Amino acid sequence: MKIFTIIGARPQFIKASAMSREIEKHTDVQDFILHTGQHFDANMSEVFFKQMKIPKPDVNLNIHGMTHGAMTGQMLQGIEENLLAEKPDVVLVYGDTNSTLAGALAAAKLHIPVGHVEAGLRSFNMKMPEEINRVLTDHISKWLFCPTADAVSNLENEGVADNHIFRTGDIMYDSAVHFAEFARSPKEELPQQFALCTLHRAENTDNPEILASLVQSLESIAKDLPLVLPLHPRTKKKLDDAGLSLSSAIHCIEPVGYLEMLWLLKHTQIVLTDSGGLQKEAYFFEKACITLREETEWVELTEYGINRICGHDQGKIHAAFQEFRLNKVVFPKALYGDGHSAQTMLNTMLQR
Ligand code: UDP
Repeated sequence: MKIFTIIGARPQFIKASAMSREIEKHTDVQDFILHTGQHFDANMSEVFFKQMKIPKPDVNLNIHGMTHGAMTGQMLQGIEENLLAEKPDVVLVYGDTNSTLAGALAAAKLHIPVGHVEAGLRSFNMKMPEEINRVLTDHISKWLFCPTADAVSNLENEGVADNHIFRTGDIMYDSAVHFAEFARSPKEELPQQFALCTLHRAENTDNPEILASLVQSLESIAKDLPLVLPLHPRTKKKLDDAGLSLSSAIHCIEPVGYLEMLWLLKHTQIVLTDSGGLQKEAYFFEKACITLREETEWVELTEYGINRICGHDQGKIHAAFQEFRLNKVVFPKALYGDGHSAQTMLNTMLQR
């Protein structure tokens, strides 16, 4: 079987690494990797290929820094050309980026079956580009690999036939389980006790008022507990554009590699984030999470009270921080499978 893997953004490299390890065990499976180029900085792309030993992409389309339409359109064209040349049996796409949608659409039009890793997740907020990408990708894919029971119900509610839905567990958990023992500290000197924060979603960074309000909340928390903030390039630019500076209680560092991120997750007291992936990783390492968004796709975490949805509301963020500082948080077991989801997905596709 020849798989054509399409990746382009940081969380996709982390997810695809687990599948690469699984594919290597099968001599009868060949993988062709196309990198769309959506993330291109060394610390947003190359570092993950090195640390996680992902095979070098066979093709890099180098498409980045455009409007959504231009980016998706150029990707569609570039991916189609490569699909026609490679003639794969299966196309595999991950998550919810423009690379995901472009890959699924190019393949579906050529009648090549698509596997969607992380299918069925919904924020029910169609203003998010990620939500548009994931809904459309799900409806043109053959194998919908769902990380959670909630993802399965979402697809059932949208009328997707049962024979397309597979509950596999979460591939990010595969990666965390495999790499946890290799965690290593970032090179920067950091406080002994800290809260880990990441911030990069368009709805937070692209509105200067919301960004300023979030900075105020972070500064207020940092008076109690210093923050470590690996700064996404988009957020750095938006902070600069808005003339916002951060105090020394917020330890701003460059984006870190995955092994350093695992170290930060192990050592942090609490996580504050608008990332999808980091909310789950907080749970993997039994850390409470304050989500700086208005909704989450990982509803099981909020149902167990280990993740609080606070948006950019200063009162809610402050209350959640105090609550998690003062009360013992109990973490349920095994919400995201057994760490072997890539194996389940590959076996499913091999039985095509
Ligand atoms: N991540 C990382 N270094 C960083 C920030 C994030 O390795 O400096 C990892 C993080 O651990 C998670 C993934 O990147 O596995 C999440 O990516 P991101 O927040 O960019 O995207 P999202 O999950 O929101 O789609």
